[in-house]
Amino acid sequence: MNFADFVRMMGAFASTRYRLRFDARASFERWQTRRIDAFLRTQLKRASFYRDYPSRELAALPVVDKAFTLQRFAAFNTHGIALETALAAARASEQAGLLPPQFDPNLTAGLSSGTSGRPGVFLASASERATWAGIMLARTLDRDLLTLLATRAKPLRVAFFLRANSSLYTTLHSRRIDFRFFDLQAGAHTHIDTLTGFAPEVLVAPASVLGWLAAETLSGHLRIAPRKVISVAEVLEPDDETLIRDAWRKPAHQLYQCTEGFLGYTCSQGTLHLNEEFVHVEPEWLDDARTRFVPVITDFTRRTQLIVRYRLDDILRVRATPCPCGRVTLALAAIDGRLDDVLWLPSRLGGRLLPLFPDSVRRAIAACGASIDDYSLVQHGRALSLGVQGSDTAFASIRHALDNLVASQGMCSLPWQRAALDTRAPTAKRRRIVCATKPLADGESFSPIADIHET
Ligand SMILES: [Zn+2]
Repeated sequence: MNFADFVRMMGAFASTRYRLRFDARASFERWQTRRIDAFLRTQLKRASFYRDYPSRELAALPVVDKAFTLQRFAAFNTHGIALETALAAARASEQAGLLPPQFDPNLTAGLSSGTSGRPGVFLASASERATWAGIMLARTLDRDLLTLLATRAKPLRVAFFLRANSSLYTTLHSRRIDFRFFDLQAGAHTHIDTLTGFAPEVLVAPASVLGWLAAETLSGHLRIAPRKVISVAEVLEPDDETLIRDAWRKPAHQLYQCTEGFLGYTCSQGTLHLNEEFVHVEPEWLDDARTRFVPVITDFTRRTQLIVRYRLDDILRVRATPCPCGRVTLALAAIDGRLDDVLWLPSRLGGRLLPLFPDSVRRAIAACGASIDDYSLVQHGRALSLGVQGSDTAFASIRHALDNLVASQGMCSLPWQRAALDTRAPTAKRRRIVCATKPLADGESFSPIADIHET
């Protein structure tokens, strides 16, 4: 990182940490609207997709999604870089190979660890990466770690378990931060000795990997005592959360970060807040009570790859009460999973399909009392397939708990099939609950997500 970018990073750190404070939601929204307007006025026309759009009003712009923006990748970035070039550059930087000649070496391309379909790819300039690093540090370094950084000669040791080394995260490596990457492709178990020797002060990994490392710590196979534990890239399941607390006496801090941006983080009170000082979030509500929504995001900080009214696949659940930390940004109860993690069951009143959200399924399974090591629940049309690893009674206990849950929500249960629990590849993102095929409704079907509308 050169000096200018270092200054930029420290500026982003300081302003995120100390300046962007708002007493009331209304004053925050006025500030945010001014920022978005400035962004749309100056940046939008730099991407060819928006060049001929008559309007610079956010609400008048089309809602887009991953498939659509990948299809027209060059039109959504301000350098006109084609998807093939960006993918080649991302692969080259992962494998320390040569960048394609038509790729601007001042930019960085990185791949996302998608669960299925085409991989996501991001583009960022050096200054965007510096800004991102400053925001990331401001959101994750608590007072304890900051004091350590400021007063100790030795660098802070950060262990990072990822599916692929991201050039974005290595931006954080510096004289003050010893950033060690642990490759999940090789298998988490192959790193136990190195990890013990490294003695990380900050441990960052997908939730399921943290859960496994916590279990290894509890059984005495791993001896580490991180000061901070950060969960990324997956839904933090209740059983992993408990293991993490038991092993290291710490709550897991969550970072909600994906190719599309840095979207949320846990505050000092342990609540997940949306990163609305940098990303505008429009909720597409999934229920009448407005407890869950799909976010449509606009990142008004990015300048290379434009993320404007971009619909994510995630389901976010709103926290019922304001967070005691006093932040005015939206507080979440949880990231519940993806839209295709919702199961669809027939209503007891006939015809219509009703959504069974994954968080209620997770809670019912966690509360069913059986000893369960792992499970996988997949809906194939009008059948539910369950694979369980645990005690002999685990399958029956889960089935019983879920049949009760379904009945309590006014739905009919579906026939159960017992399946073998697949062993996951070490690099696979964990998704325990999946709707593989949605059943056909007899009559009306509940479909909250409209098709992408182009004007
Ligand atoms: Zn809070």
